[in-house]
Amino acid sequence: MSASTRELAELSGPALDTMLTPDSIVVLPVGSVEHHGAHLPLATDLIMADEMSVRAVDAAADSGLDVWRLPPLAYTKSDEHDWAPGTFWIGADDLLATLRGIGRSLARTPARTLVFLNGHGGNVAPLAIALRELRRLHGLRTFALSVAVPSAPEESGLGIHGGWGETSLMMHLRPDLVAPEHFARAIPEGLSDYRRIGFAGASVQFGWLSDDFGCGGVLGDPTRADAATGERLAADFVRLAVESFEEISRFDPAGGGA
Ligand SMILES: [Zn+2]
Repeated sequence: MSASTRELAELSGPALDTMLTPDSIVVLPVGSVEHHGAHLPLATDLIMADEMSVRAVDAAADSGLDVWRLPPLAYTKSDEHDWAPGTFWIGADDLLATLRGIGRSLARTPARTLVFLNGHGGNVAPLAIALRELRRLHGLRTFALSVAVPSAPEESGLGIHGGWGETSLMMHLRPDLVAPEHFARAIPEGLSDYRRIGFAGASVQFGWLSDDFGCGGVLGDPTRADAATGERLAADFVRLAVESFEEISRFDPAGGGA
């Protein structure tokens, strides 16, 4: 074990007790193992959360922040892809119970700050519940940050699963696992005609399963994805994450942000 490791689970118990302090920020990468079409691996969200958390934690540590990384959570809430073989999911209740256990365990250490670094949209709602529960139950300072995978303009705001951004990022992170011969546009063209009903940010949300759209479980257009875009998205995210960890390190909801 290198003394400079930022991998919390590589420490011994006694070492953890002296190396973590109330100022330490502990990052839990949260992924998923779920259907991502024929062009991306099942572990896409896990790989993104895992790899981006390594880069973000290392960069934050290099800039002087006391940041640590927990081993990633692989199996999470992917019930929207339950229909697709290869999706390995636990329900919202199970995920919440797991997060409660991780928070309870973190509260036994000197650290007081837990950050979820999330790679899967389906986890956003349960993570938001866990933020408050762990704050209330254990007095932890809790935060959630998602790996941003933007939509391309030609995706009409619907590039949310296996689309241009996510595929580009994977072509940068793990090109060996991407299958360009299966790139195909998968946009439910009529969906953007609705003024009120839509995904996150719309006035009216709707319950959906990923096979509701007639697009084979993908929502997006990977046909113009490329590794250079992925490299840029990764660098953008690391910068955003380091800034976020810096702000988290001094965050006081009752005080100013200066
Ligand atoms: Zn994904």
